[in-house]
Amino acid sequence: MIAVGTRIEATPDALAAVEAELKEQTGAPAVAWCGRGATALYWAYRLAAGIGEPNPAPEVILPAISCTTASAALVAGLTPRFADVERSSGLLSLRSVQDRWSARTKAVVFVHLYGQTADLLPLAALCRERGAILIEDAAQATGARLPGGDCVGSVGDLTVHSFSRTKILDCGGGALVLRAPDLAERFQTDVSEYSLPGEVHPETRQALERSRHDIYRGLLALLRLDAGATVSEPWLNLHGAFDPLFLRPMTNPDALRRAWDRLPGILERRCRNASIYEQKLSGGPWELLGGWRESGACWRYSLLVDFPADLVAFSEAVRGDGFHVSNLYWPESQLFRPDDVAPNAERLARRIVNLWVDDTVDESTVEACADSLRTHAARFASGGPWDRRSEPRSD
Ligand SMILES: *Cc1c(COP(=O)(O)O)cnc(C)c1O
Repeated sequence: MIAVGTRIEATPDALAAVEAELKEQTGAPAVAWCGRGATALYWAYRLAAGIGEPNPAPEVILPAISCTTASAALVAGLTPRFADVERSSGLLSLRSVQDRWSARTKAVVFVHLYGQTADLLPLAALCRERGAILIEDAAQATGARLPGGDCVGSVGDLTVHSFSRTKILDCGGGALVLRAPDLAERFQTDVSEYSLPGEVHPETRQALERSRHDIYRGLLALLRLDAGATVSEPWLNLHGAFDPLFLRPMTNPDALRRAWDRLPGILERRCRNASIYEQKLSGGPWELLGGWRESGACWRYSLLVDFPADLVAFSEAVRGDGFHVSNLYWPESQLFRPDDVAPNAERLARRIVNLWVDDTVDESTVEACADSLRTHAARFASGGPWDRRSEPRSD
């Protein structure tokens, strides 16, 4: 199926082969194509809200380190709750999911953060036992492998893909893979439930996107300086204004078809760049996230620095040498629901450095960037030896 304008239609020929491949990889009976990952999330949440006993305030459990998942939940009328993440990977913590569970829980989202994967069977079993659905968010992990070798999306009831700018395939678009037969059936019978509102004018969209981005960046800068600042009320109050951004029909089946054919080469190139980073950065004042090796997908190469107090200055210094680095991940709980405290997510947010491995960089850029990181780190971490082990553990 495909969302075109405000209608949902049969899958066009251009996407037939891609759809067949996704179905074969995951055992899914249906795929729904849309204009971005957030729209696929929205559909997944609408399906989740409809399962089990009617519930006036359905909840979805999300990892505290994520992107877009909470905003899309609000658009779909679900209340986001936030579980903590694993300290070393930033991936959803099963134990924390159990702590956040309530009678209102309708779904859990596992985000394959930065392309990393994990054994999802225990989480899938928990969801099944308690009558909630498991959503895999593979927006940063298209083409990734789960630890047993199966494809990403082959455990969750539903899986979200994004092909937006900056993602592994960046031609534009999104997809919801419907693996649970009952949900696939429901989507296809109640098609009118899942049709999208009309598109906003491109200039309005751009202005709204800029506004949301600026507000988000501003709030994050404030939280970085003052962890006690209460920003969730204004952020939640403003949210409805941005709803139209999240619901987009698909406009480019042909471009997606062409991009899909290039996926193996794209993944290989990303992993090659990641392995250069790994070689050049090993032994420095940081922890390197290595999950891309097992999954075969590296969205951004990521490390957690040992000098959190200087993270911003460090990144600025590396940017000054001409390299892209970002530190935009922040516990979404602090923006949407501060009571869902997530210490590991907070620790990660104050240390994370994300580095580019896509086709904007070649091997020599990666090497030069790694040198820049090492040079500036030597300045900021001059207290050494790196005192990672003596830090109080919160997990
Ligand atoms: C980018 C992203 C999304 C949303 O995808 P869009 O295509 O930008 O709507 C959802 N989840 C995660 C983890 C993402 O990184």
